[in-house]
Amino acid sequence: MFLYVRGEMAHAQERIAAALNEAYEANLVGRNILGTDFSVDIVLTWGAGAYIVGEETALIESLEGHRGCLGSAAVLPGRQGPLHEAHRGQQRGDALQPAVDHEPRRHEVPRHRHRDLARHTSHRPVGPCAQPRRVRGPQGSTTFRDLIESPDYGGGIREGHELKMFIPGGASAPWFFPEHLDLPLEAREVGPQGSMLGSGAVVVMDDSTDAVRACLRVVRFFARESCGKCTPCREGTTWEEQILTRILEGHGRPSDIELLLDVADNISPGPYPVASHEAAGLDAVPFPPRQTTICPLGPSSVAPITSALRRFRSEFTDKITLRDPIPVVSEPSTNEGVRNG
Ligand code: SF4
Repeated sequence: MFLYVRGEMAHAQERIAAALNEAYEANLVGRNILGTDFSVDIVLTWGAGAYIVGEETALIESLEGHRGCLGSAAVLPGRQGPLHEAHRGQQRGDALQPAVDHEPRRHEVPRHRHRDLARHTSHRPVGPCAQPRRVRGPQGSTTFRDLIESPDYGGGIREGHELKMFIPGGASAPWFFPEHLDLPLEAREVGPQGSMLGSGAVVVMDDSTDAVRACLRVVRFFARESCGKCTPCREGTTWEEQILTRILEGHGRPSDIELLLDVADNISPGPYPVASHEAAGLDAVPFPPRQTTICPLGPSSVAPITSALRRFRSEFTDKITLRDPIPVVSEPSTNEGVRNG
């Protein structure tokens, strides 16, 4: 059995290695566990850090010491064996991670407890909330407003500020705005409104947040995480990062907004999922997006761009210096100066 930790998470690696050593010493792992005839070894391994190693073939590539990039489908877990079982377990939702998240002292959860956990929704408001922490609420009735504002959950936006926007499902989800606060934390409600619940991390941003800077932070993450396999993602995310950087640094060009949307359209063609903007008379585009890439990382980089541009376009245009064209005057040259000299 393998435990895979991202390369840059050194602290997590140390903690897991220490726990694993303790488990071996206590004979909870290894040969003839607790005197039984059952044996299992757990190998802790880590890669260089890449979003795509959450996909099976890329994970196997990385485990084998190669670059964390999509591999051949021929190495996909077979029809039997431990990898196949692990894959089936993942599909059935048997992964222990959600249980471990909420009840860190329990490393194993009886199967019936999964049913209880399934009736709850688990999210983590991050950002300028009074209590940014992982919380669990009843599924179906918990809303984003509960999650962000309730004293039992996020505790509200810090004093003196107001909510500007929030990302309901981690960096890859299209943004929501104050009028979406009363939506329940349910995929079937959130999807038609133009976003998704994704990882469960709700990124909260208050009125002190610069929409362009926030957009760049998210895009830069995806540009750096791109494994480079697909051209639209490899080139497109880098272009997006470069264009946003020059806008922020005051070197933006008047054509940059259209260029950004054009690059985004090459990664995810057609209307990209986005929340409604009632004041502007714009309807929501439902999730999910289309993609020209193998995995959803590339299209994820488009979410902050289309969300921010739909709602805060003026923040982009304000940063773009609309210079007058430099006049080019053609005058006949004279050699008078040379002759006089
Ligand atoms: S979209 Fe393509 S290039 Fe980008 S991370 Fe996924 S597989 Fe790699």
